[in-house]
Amino acid sequence: MPQNIYRGRFAPTPSGPLHLGSLLTALASYLQARAAGGAWLLRIDDLDAVRSRPEHTSTILRQLEAHALWWDETPRIQSDHRTEYASAFEQLRKLGLLYPCTCTRARLARESAPGPDGPVYSGRCRGLQAIPSRAAWRLRLPPGTETFEDRWQGQLTRDRERDIGDFIVKRVDGVIGYQLACVVDEAAQGITEVVRGADLIGSSFRQRALQRLLGLPQPAYAHLPLLVDAGGRKLSKQNHAAPLASARAGENLYLCLSALNQTPPVELRGETAQVLVEWARQNWNAERVPHRARLRMTELPDQTDSPTFGGR
Ligand SMILES: [Zn+2]
Repeated sequence: MPQNIYRGRFAPTPSGPLHLGSLLTALASYLQARAAGGAWLLRIDDLDAVRSRPEHTSTILRQLEAHALWWDETPRIQSDHRTEYASAFEQLRKLGLLYPCTCTRARLARESAPGPDGPVYSGRCRGLQAIPSRAAWRLRLPPGTETFEDRWQGQLTRDRERDIGDFIVKRVDGVIGYQLACVVDEAAQGITEVVRGADLIGSSFRQRALQRLLGLPQPAYAHLPLLVDAGGRKLSKQNHAAPLASARAGENLYLCLSALNQTPPVELRGETAQVLVEWARQNWNAERVPHRARLRMTELPDQTDSPTFGGR
């Protein structure tokens, strides 16, 4: 594929239907790709068999269609690519960059230090002599700093040892870790820019370290503000965010465009998804996306009282 063509992606986990927060991410990554005349690809992150369900994958695809977000190419289903992840794991192991970790959840909770993106592993299993029969595998991160320029969050830096710590590349149940699978996928799909929520900034540092060690290309990164409720909690399946109603697709898109500070004209309220997405394609301005990590739902146009909605 040509190197100068923009390729973006949206990568939901099929653990439930999309909600307004996931639509915000899907829409922004779609518009970034379309504005650049590039491709918008889908990936289904279904490696975790406990959380993932095929019926959720079909629900997600139907929700995207209802919101007029049409993707290019066949969606990449992670569970179809386990051999690719296994060979990346082998490559790291042969480089001497992996070690087994036998820490229990209780020990990790006790010994991990708080970091800017979550708990930082202590490194206690780095010196294990024997290879245990049952263990997770961690990446031995070299010392130094990890820095990148984020489209919306500006320059971001972490110290690898203090802020990130050695992270899991294969879980104790044998499932390849999210970070490793993700870098293999970005490379396989030729992704040039990753647009996703600011809750994944910590993952971007880990993935950039992995890409360098595996000799993979590094896409650009653009982290969107997270939609949070009035109490400051992220909209998520865990927090029981309401599933996106396809019957309200136009209204959902209007709210997301408002959250992205694209100021859709009020006359568009109540229009169909096709009309909203077409307007957004013509008028998308990435410079207007809020340069902050969190956005309260209460800052969006009132969602309960929209007299024009459904009126056409
Ligand atoms: Zn350990």
